Amino acid sequence: MSGTDTVDTVGLPNEPRSDSGNEGTIDVHLQPPRIRLGYLLILFGALTVAGSLAPAVWRCQADHDLSGGFALAQYILGVGVFVVGSVAAIHGRSCTCWQR
Ligand SMILES: [Zn+2]
Repeated sequence: MSGTDTVDTVGLPNEPRSDSGNEGTIDVHLQPPRIRLGYLLILFGALTVAGSLAPAVWRCQADHDLSGGFALAQYILGVGVFVVGSVAAIHGRSCTCWQR
């Protein structure tokens, strides 16, 4: 019967991976580089501190508005600490992204 042939073609399209031996070397290059999240978190934390201090100091010098500048710095620090804290909470010390 020809009915079984249509059932076969309905399935998923052919997988891109074929049985030729040359594709094995391509798989090695396709592996994404492992990003070490710890360094990213420390870098982002340092950037947050610097990025919150800069507008505070700038507002002090430009407008002599000490409270306004540090209110802005508090807001930037709060957002940065929230991002760093939530990411660090998801990726605990046992997570694989802290290892080499
Ligand atoms: Zn992780």
